[in-house]
Amino acid sequence: MKAIHMVDLKQQYFNIKSEVDAAIAEVLDSTVFIGGPQVADFSKSLAEYLDIKHVIPCANGTDALQIAMMALDLKPGDEVITPSFTYVATTEVIALLKLKPVFVEVDPHTFCVDPEAIRKAITPKTKAIVPVHLYGHSCEMEEIMAIANEHNLFVIEDNAQAIGADYTFRDDTTKKTGTIGTIGCTSFFPSKNLGCYGDGGAVFTNDDALAEKLKMIANHGQKTRYYHEMVGCNSRLDALQAAILNIKLPLLDSYIHARIKVADFYDNAFAENQKITTPFRADYCKHVFHQYTLILENGDNSETFRNELVAFLAENNIPSMIYYPVPAHKQKMFASFGGADYHLEKTDWLTHRVISLPIHTEMDEEQLTFITQKVLEFVNK
Ligand SMILES: *Cc1c(COP(=O)(O)O)cnc(C)c1O
Repeated sequence: MKAIHMVDLKQQYFNIKSEVDAAIAEVLDSTVFIGGPQVADFSKSLAEYLDIKHVIPCANGTDALQIAMMALDLKPGDEVITPSFTYVATTEVIALLKLKPVFVEVDPHTFCVDPEAIRKAITPKTKAIVPVHLYGHSCEMEEIMAIANEHNLFVIEDNAQAIGADYTFRDDTTKKTGTIGTIGCTSFFPSKNLGCYGDGGAVFTNDDALAEKLKMIANHGQKTRYYHEMVGCNSRLDALQAAILNIKLPLLDSYIHARIKVADFYDNAFAENQKITTPFRADYCKHVFHQYTLILENGDNSETFRNELVAFLAENNIPSMIYYPVPAHKQKMFASFGGADYHLEKTDWLTHRVISLPIHTEMDEEQLTFITQKVLEFVNK
């Protein structure tokens, strides 16, 4: 059996090596390392794929979130509502910009921010909502957009884990996640569903004026070189990364398909087990399974039980991960933002019970059979 990894970038690269190597060689020959045709081509192709007017590439997903928030003219102390159960980048950027992160609960079925919790957290100072399409599952965007419209709030979608996911509205129209709110943000970190071979990210929007501003902010606040109209930053996707992404974007749907097949295999294997809850797939969403995350329930002993499973799998050379062991409101980073005052029971409940199993585009049935057997062996012992 091939060694099991959380993601197998080596094998994925091997399958497209000749195209990728040629694309890299072309950039090296041109010596246009910043900007250039690959970056422009990629932005255009991604805009077409997402069916959105503007894609502005940047250096990474964290920058994408920062650039998005900088473009909205928020004032220090303005409140931004975000789930506590997310990767640190989402919440960190809010604090970095001297805004106030307001942490709310997720729906324990979808792992995504609970629209009702957003509604309850709104105050006169609330200016924006940052829904996170966690693990590749879409947030309840129709509900979130209704709340945002009602209260005149910006919506910045953190789409770093869900590129390619679909959200279907009640009238049966479908949009890609990240294209529904005011601005969408994504990351091309190597292990993401559309990953490059270094750092990369992008922001997207349908708003022409906002697109212009996002582009300027990512480029030192300038439209014309050396004429700086606003304080920005330096955040670029480089040509090598764009060349690699140009090879990988046409494969994204097949990569998503491969991930869904892995998820289906796991779902079937665990379906009858009382202690395991497999990932929920809401009917409004096409899940792209950036992660395959189980909830493990064993009474009062759930957290220990989960941690023992991690150790048992590791003994059998099966990696697994806890995404995320500490929610934002419990991070030291947010102590001065009143983190300790929050009581987010569902979030805490999840952090003690979640475990993510290996999922990637190159898994085979032998590996999946072994993993599921070992998980069941531990859980049923
Ligand atoms: C990966 C990730 C980011 C940040 O992306 P980087 O490219 O690592 O900066 C932000 N939010 C979420 C939910 C992520 O998973």
